[in-house]
Amino acid sequence: METPSTQKSLHILPRVGLHWVGDGFPVHSLFGAASFTPTISPFLMLDYAGPAPFTPTTAKRGVGAHPHKGFETITIVYQGEVEHRDSVGNHGTIGPGDVQWMTAASGILHEEFHSRAFAKRGGVLEMVQLWVNLPTKDKKAPPGYQSLLKANIPVVPLENGGSAHIIAGKFEQTSGAAHTFTPINLWDLRLKASTSTLLNLPAGYTTALLVLHGSVDAGDGQTLGDATLALVESPNECLNIHAHSDTTLLALNGAPIKEPIAAQGPFVMNTDEELYQAMLEFQNGQMGQL
Ligand code: MN
Repeated sequence: METPSTQKSLHILPRVGLHWVGDGFPVHSLFGAASFTPTISPFLMLDYAGPAPFTPTTAKRGVGAHPHKGFETITIVYQGEVEHRDSVGNHGTIGPGDVQWMTAASGILHEEFHSRAFAKRGGVLEMVQLWVNLPTKDKKAPPGYQSLLKANIPVVPLENGGSAHIIAGKFEQTSGAAHTFTPINLWDLRLKASTSTLLNLPAGYTTALLVLHGSVDAGDGQTLGDATLALVESPNECLNIHAHSDTTLLALNGAPIKEPIAAQGPFVMNTDEELYQAMLEFQNGQMGQL
């Protein structure tokens, strides 16, 4: 009997260990060994925190002032509340459904804490922080900050009762909330059990699916469960996602930036020399003050 040749469309990345960012964010770095490699460009890494319960406290939980340069950090809150303050003078608190899109570019200092109110009442924290690279020419851009509140993020109702929250890019005819430097689609999808959803994804882009909760397959016999990230390897532009249960799924899709990546800690440049310069700028206080 001949086995029909099937194209494996999803490459599920192995789960890596938990580590803490400051004392507020217990995260799994879901791109694992592919982080900071051309394989996932324009994305650099993705940390998934929680869902983790926190007891009430009057202490500040999180990570104090630290620098970034050469890329963008995108924070998506699903449960709990996170507060941000930076050297450019931006300050904001985001809760479930809200997104902070911070452009570090030429250099910024910021701090990231649980909001005071959330820390005081305690509860479950669940969030994603995605790092997206910038092309060489935009690494020199002034730092920026987009506060994308849930109410301002366009929602496309899906035929089958689900919904697509368009953080960035374009879904069917609807444009997302964020300004991006390179083409990026970032969709927060809520899918109903036993439904199928067709995603149209530009061919040649890097595509990843992160299931936060629930269970889906993309027709190749593999199932993606809770806290699982897969790279989509099929060259097809259309991906038919079948949800087995109610599912929260983050779809990432972006045009690769075909430039060298030199990454160290909070800096992502093109060369080691530029990394060294970034460290000097930070030490000399050129990334501002908090
Ligand atoms: Mn940071």
